[in-house]
Amino acid sequence: MKIISTPLALKTYLKSIDKSIGFVPTMGALHEGHISLIKEAKKSNEFVVVSIFVNPTQFAKGEDLLKYPSDELRDKKICEMSGIDVLFYPKAKDIYGEDEVSVLAPKIRAYILEGFTRPSHFNGVLSVVMKLLNIVNPSKAYFGKKDAQQLMLIELMVKQLFMDVEIIAVDTVRENDGLAMSSRNVYLSVDEREDALCISRSLNLASSMISKGIMDVESITEAMREFLTPLEIYYVEILSREFEKIPQVTIGKSIILVEVKVGTTRLLDNIWL
Ligand code: AMP
Repeated sequence: MKIISTPLALKTYLKSIDKSIGFVPTMGALHEGHISLIKEAKKSNEFVVVSIFVNPTQFAKGEDLLKYPSDELRDKKICEMSGIDVLFYPKAKDIYGEDEVSVLAPKIRAYILEGFTRPSHFNGVLSVVMKLLNIVNPSKAYFGKKDAQQLMLIELMVKQLFMDVEIIAVDTVRENDGLAMSSRNVYLSVDEREDALCISRSLNLASSMISKGIMDVESITEAMREFLTPLEIYYVEILSREFEKIPQVTIGKSIILVEVKVGTTRLLDNIWL
């Protein structure tokens, strides 16, 4: 595995590679969720690039940028053991300059759900993803379904800006007890970790209501809210896969999204119906 830290060095190196490139962008603190993206990338590409970059522009003031979990040695070991070809590990000054050109996220779909309480978040996400895709120029780029709104917005950006990359969505990897894996789970105390199980359980509750034929969005989200009551709820929504409001669940076309605060940690999860 080669470790490269500047965009220019990476672009130059990749120009000499005549292979299909799969790309997995991450913010590090790697876990099984990230590894499943890498495995998918390895399955259908000859060459795999992973990036680790904690992107400052997607954090608002007062968010967890400065304490975002990081373990460079461990992450490098995981990448090495996963058999990737290149680890791109830039610093913020390598990615951002002054008086920046930026990508603006769409005014409706980036300002609902997570974007409602983090209004500048998706501008930062789309800007960095655009930069990383331009640096790596992969055939395929891999993103987790766990961050469903992010995934939808990246797919939209690629489509609307006529970008030449295929976005591959990868299923959410969970702990044995159902908690969706996340780098931020390390913030949770033992009690908070227990409380966080309510999230996946509320999604299971919704699934079981749906399997009994209850398709009414209002009834399902109401039951989920009641279940999640001890936690601070940011949103519980059932939307179409295009993130539009719907009155009834349609199997194969809907998604249930939840975000709550456990202690001081925001955790999100969803299921695709
Ligand atoms: P992050 O490092 O949290 O920015 O995540 C990097 C990529 O890994 C994103 O595309 C995430 O959606 C994806 N990811 C994070 N957690 C999981 C998970 N539990 N299962 C699958 N993919 C995940």
